[in-house]
Amino acid sequence: MRTRVGIIGAGPAGLLLAQLLDRSGIESVLIERQSAEHVAGRIRAGILESTTVDVLRAAGVGDRLAHTAIEHRGIYLQWPGTRHQVDFADLIGRSVWVYGQTEVTADLMAARAAAGQRIHYKVTDVGVHEVDSDRPHITFRDEHGVARRIDADVIVGCDGFHGPSRQAIPASVRRTWERTYPFAWLGVLAEVAPSTDELIYAWHEDGFALHSMRSPAVSRFYLQVRPEEDIAEWSDDRIWAALAERLHIDGWTLRTGTITEKSVLPMRSHVTAPMRHGRLFLAGDAAHIVPPTGAKGLNLAVADVAVLAEALTAWLGAGDERAAAAYSATALRRVWRATHFSWWMTTMLHRHGDDFDGELQLAQLRRIAQSTHAATELAENYTGTSIETA
Ligand SMILES: Cc1cc2nc3c(=O)[nH]c(=O)nc-3n(C[C@H](O)[C@H](O)[C@H](O)COP(=O)(O)OP(=O)(O)OC[C@H]3O[C@@H](n4cnc5c(N)ncnc54)[C@H](O)[C@@H]3O)c2cc1C
Repeated sequence: MRTRVGIIGAGPAGLLLAQLLDRSGIESVLIERQSAEHVAGRIRAGILESTTVDVLRAAGVGDRLAHTAIEHRGIYLQWPGTRHQVDFADLIGRSVWVYGQTEVTADLMAARAAAGQRIHYKVTDVGVHEVDSDRPHITFRDEHGVARRIDADVIVGCDGFHGPSRQAIPASVRRTWERTYPFAWLGVLAEVAPSTDELIYAWHEDGFALHSMRSPAVSRFYLQVRPEEDIAEWSDDRIWAALAERLHIDGWTLRTGTITEKSVLPMRSHVTAPMRHGRLFLAGDAAHIVPPTGAKGLNLAVADVAVLAEALTAWLGAGDERAAAAYSATALRRVWRATHFSWWMTTMLHRHGDDFDGELQLAQLRRIAQSTHAATELAENYTGTSIETA
């Protein structure tokens, strides 16, 4: 096969890149390890920055979002005895949107199917070759086990944290930074109407808790647990009791319902640089991971792709390589900003260290409640800093 852009990974980053390139007249081929059903069913992120919503609208996949996403004007920060609203709309005139990653993926898959996108699902043995040359190519086995090859002008690794693309950057030029946190999240999906109008981020002696939501009838919850936590020890009753305890505030009641999914998520920060080597580019989780406390993972993937699509359009469409040459540096500036914000939210809200650390966390939370400047800093980062494209 021959194409302009060979994309490895048909998660949100890969699908959105194919969508944006197509709108600029640049064709691509996607390969994906999983089946289409598996990709469509993965429950992950749920909060879209206003900048992400702008990108999705500009990509032509904003219609359903406009009708069904739930706009949130802020979040609640909570610690014992206090639930404080940080009102982004009042502070900076921006908001965020509750719209599940499954919905974003469904919209992108539908748009790509309508456009006749070539996507190979259930591929194996993916290899990335000769990215230092003018003849980069991808090899893989298709779902029938047949060996295939894609020759492309450029290859983009959108294959998430465990994909092979990152490793195709030689170790001699690749640098990584990593922080593994001494706690994890127990994530819970429940068929129950949210007990709150905005997300609640709660600091508690027993550990962090988050009340989030997916729709008017489905709630999402997270509890801080140990990284090695055995999920079998968390019965539904124990989960509801822990949530009620950690989210408790006088005069408020937690609604309970049927738990439909629970899983333990590790917490890690990871950045790989450069995000371009020769004719190989990385975007999304292939290059960086953030702990989910700041709701940044999916949003960062969208921002990378917005920058990359513009750079590849200029290069492959008009022969101007400048933005492609600057891609890694441009994307990494935003990646590090979001990495800092995610680390800051995570370390402020999770119980770790000793009582001294606990008092520092509470001092920081009170500061946000008391200072418009401190609250504005949180609001600007949470709703998303602007996407620089050069
Ligand atoms: C369990 C979980 C929960 C999360 N919760 C949140 C959250 O609450 N909030 C938040 O903001 N973010 C969350 N995230 C992060 C967010 O989902 C990611 O940042 C986002 O999916 C990144 O999109 P992506 O396309 O870069 O990567 P991915 O979504 O990981 O997509 C990568 C794709 O590449 C495919 N692939 C991998 N290897 C190969 C290969 N060899 N060949 C071909 N294809 C390959 C994968 O199957 C996948 O479809 C969560 C992530 C996980 C794993």
